[in-house]
Amino acid sequence: MKTSVLSTQDTQAVPTGAQLIRAGGLVAFPTETVYGLGADGLNGAAVDRIFAAKGRPNDNPLILHVAEKQDAFSLWDGEPPYARALMDTFWPGPLTLIYRRAPIVPDQVTAGLDTVAVRMPDSAAARALIAASGVPIAAPSANLSGKPSPTTAQHVLDDMDGRIPLILDGGPCRYGVESTVLSLAGAPTILRPGAVTPEMLAAVIGEVALAPSILSPLKAGETVASPGMKYKHYAPNAQVLVVVGEPKAAAARISALYDQFAGAGKRVRIAATAEAAPFYGSRSIALLGTRQDPTTLCSRLFGLLRELDREADVILCEGVGTAGTGLAFMNRLLRSAGFHVEYLP
Ligand code: AMP
Ligand code: MG
Repeated sequence: MKTSVLSTQDTQAVPTGAQLIRAGGLVAFPTETVYGLGADGLNGAAVDRIFAAKGRPNDNPLILHVAEKQDAFSLWDGEPPYARALMDTFWPGPLTLIYRRAPIVPDQVTAGLDTVAVRMPDSAAARALIAASGVPIAAPSANLSGKPSPTTAQHVLDDMDGRIPLILDGGPCRYGVESTVLSLAGAPTILRPGAVTPEMLAAVIGEVALAPSILSPLKAGETVASPGMKYKHYAPNAQVLVVVGEPKAAAARISALYDQFAGAGKRVRIAATAEAAPFYGSRSIALLGTRQDPTTLCSRLFGLLRELDREADVILCEGVGTAGTGLAFMNRLLRSAGFHVEYLP
């Protein structure tokens, strides 16, 4: 299959994409979080094609994307508690809400669960595609299963060339990490952190719980609220090692590891924050962003992992605290490292 790329500036982009979606095909499209791989979310056979193209395990459910707030209510069985206040505050935007599914939602979307995840993206191109398709669009991130999520159309092409007919190119994604996933099926619980932080949610609906799997690997036999958490995730081919500590101490430890791996003949790269950058001596570093604003770390992480993966066997990366969007950054980074992490005193 030939994969075409159309700029979202091209007047043919949205109509061509919508026609493919309505015909049961796949279209990769930009959102403000990461690029999505979309199909008609009410057509089970179309949704099956998403799993095949990504190599995604079929017990990992998908998010349905809607163009208007009111469209979410036809996908749920009744009105979720807190939903109106959350939608008024955070939609359109990077917050996904989970609640009991309506019967029209195919089993392939929910992976057999009795709940469904719904989001209204802020990206104008994404909403135009959904509106022109006339159906909710089921979409996971448009990467091969297990790889870092794509934040540019080139990343999508690197993974999906020959596997899907069309990629809509809307430039780099603003946030660079996937949406916050909040379950409203019981007490409000964050299953996956994102740009909408626990602090922001608490300001609207009071304290929210955090799923235990956000910062730690699953223990044997433990059941998981969000199936996506149990898989190897966001991982480049290189081994990622994380060091969490104050800038100077983290740089010292990473420098020691660098010298050790380089001495053993490995190709090593360092992903550093601006605060620690002065402490690496003559070792070459790639800049992630600033600890002052972890959203900068989030937006750079997946792209940087893909870049460094081309030139390294080992990637040494600084970790940071979990306040604000630091939680989303650490959730993705620890998974990309397979939880190989050192916490400095
Ligand atoms: P992705 O589309 O790659 O961003 O993955 C979607 C994420 O949402 C995965 O971690 C899924 O496990 C999670 N998810 C989607 N639907 C549900 C649901 N009904 N219950 C729990 N988690 C869900
Ligand atoms: Mg994904």
